[in-house]
Amino acid sequence: MTAVTTSLFPALPSPARAARLRTRLLQWYGENARDLPWRRTSDAYAILVSEAMLQQTQVATVVDYYRRFLKAFPDARSLADAKEEDVLALWSGLGYYRRARSLQSAARVMVTEHAGHFPGEEEAALDLPGVGRYTAGAVLSIAYGLPQALVDGNVERVFSRFFGLDGVSGSRELVAQCWELAELLVPQKRAGDWNQALMELGALICTPRQTDCAECPLKRSCQARKEGRVSELPRPKVRAPAKAMEVEMLFIRRGPRILLEQRADGQALGGLWQLPTRAIGSEGEGEGEGASGLFAEEWPGGLGAEDGPDLGRLRHGIMRFSIRARLRPGTARGRKGSALAWFEAEQLESLGLTAMARKALAGLKDWPPGTD
Ligand code: SF4
Repeated sequence: MTAVTTSLFPALPSPARAARLRTRLLQWYGENARDLPWRRTSDAYAILVSEAMLQQTQVATVVDYYRRFLKAFPDARSLADAKEEDVLALWSGLGYYRRARSLQSAARVMVTEHAGHFPGEEEAALDLPGVGRYTAGAVLSIAYGLPQALVDGNVERVFSRFFGLDGVSGSRELVAQCWELAELLVPQKRAGDWNQALMELGALICTPRQTDCAECPLKRSCQARKEGRVSELPRPKVRAPAKAMEVEMLFIRRGPRILLEQRADGQALGGLWQLPTRAIGSEGEGEGEGASGLFAEEWPGGLGAEDGPDLGRLRHGIMRFSIRARLRPGTARGRKGSALAWFEAEQLESLGLTAMARKALAGLKDWPPGTD
């Protein structure tokens, strides 16, 4: 089946149109590209780190994390040899911790099978943990200049509008059409710049809302603009509403230290530390699924709550859950289990803490000690 026969995709661009498109966009990119730290290197490992961080996370957030991470782990070998908890600590706050674990696994494969380098062939790149078609395309084109295409959410939006593709964002049909276009359009030379130019246009001009078509280098031949459908394309996917979950967290303090619980490996956010937490209930879960695998329904390790007013309340979103949490004073009498440990306030900076724990601690009046 070819794309030309589908209703979603009326016609592939002619070679002349493709050439004009490349020229205009590359020129615009040359004049407008943001100066970002990962654009100052052609080190494939560093670009892989940036790509792992940029998935699901804003550029402005990533910049500092990227610098700190590369300072601690400047190459694949240092990351491969690092303790997982040190890697997670430097990832703490970026979310989606599976990316950090996959990145470290990829570094280990790079060391054992590719002499510490990101492989230069797509097939071998795709064998690295956590490296899919997008990441392989990004690293191979940007670091090695290979004519590899890529499609991410930005590229999907630009193509959907420019070519007038009437598909649902993230749908198999639309994504497949975008890949077909991306592979057709990627130039033999400057593939890395081309890929980054497409993503940059989607990030700066062809944005989901408040699209700035007046400044777009492609405006003269954009189908969505011609048809007045810019805000309609790509069509949004229908998201299931977040499910409500109620949890309680314990604040257990002994002098300058607090008690934290490490989340189990294999669990969401596995390996990160949280305030001891239990789920009270969640919307729409069946028998025995009240915790949804996210939190246990019992206090961990023999801990318990003490009577007394709540120390705080907060709301937090994790995966498909909208969490309402009560922070309660707790007791460690009867404590057991290796998943619990005491930490001083200064240690928390470099500890892999969940975002919900950071939020809860930030809202406490007398924590850290001496900040009443
Ligand atoms: S003209 Fe507007 S909708 Fe079309 S590609 Fe440019 S920014 Fe996107």
